[in-house]
Amino acid sequence: MWTLDGSSNIPCWRAPRAPGGALLAFTTRRGGTSVAPFDTLNLGRSTADLPERITENRSRLLGSLAVPPDSLATAGQVHGARVVEASAPGHQPECDALLTTVSGLALAVTTADCMALLFTAPGAVVAAHAGWRGAAAGMPQAALAALRSRTGCGPADITVHIGPCIRGCCYEVGEEVSSRFPAATLRRVAGRARLDLPTAATISLREAGIPAHAIHDTGACTACESHWYFSHRRDAGATGRMWGVAVLGNTGT
Ligand SMILES: [Zn+2]
Repeated sequence: MWTLDGSSNIPCWRAPRAPGGALLAFTTRRGGTSVAPFDTLNLGRSTADLPERITENRSRLLGSLAVPPDSLATAGQVHGARVVEASAPGHQPECDALLTTVSGLALAVTTADCMALLFTAPGAVVAAHAGWRGAAAGMPQAALAALRSRTGCGPADITVHIGPCIRGCCYEVGEEVSSRFPAATLRRVAGRARLDLPTAATISLREAGIPAHAIHDTGACTACESHWYFSHRRDAGATGRMWGVAVLGNTGT
């Protein structure tokens, strides 16, 4: 379902958009104006990059998605599992997921190894951020529950999308992390555990009733592909940030 459109000036992962459907996208590090180590499409204001570069990068991205720059909603992202409903543009502190029923409002979550999870249902979308802390705290299930509660939709009406993130190929974790996750999410390499965040999210969502065919994963690892993605782990913290973006379509689906 997902394809990486590398031919655009702003290369992004894009999902097919049905007429009136939700716009979903995951950005890469390409297509922006920032210089190393934030090269080039750094979208994160929590970084030490020049603010004017971040503003320009955001403007370029939103323009390429045909989203007005004044219709953006962002989340504070504190590695928890709180979902906040956004009915207007702006920044929502102290939450890791945004839900909206407002057509045209662009929800964006920021990542550089953590998962961006995008959810769609008739009449609503959710953008959620979850690293290991968020996954352990139940962020995927919390986002799903909020979407179901707000829309009255059943699992069959919902789709979930997993963006580029660090995966079991690269994400070595200590016992304090691995002990919080089921064995199916872990692989052992030379006695050390590696955690696959998308598997953790998928297990949680499947247990909550989402069918496997409704979970769409880009399959991309941020740490593996330095030419495409920022990776907090690989770059020892000196790196940029990408976005997962969800915008509800005009017909509410
Ligand atoms: Zn990897």
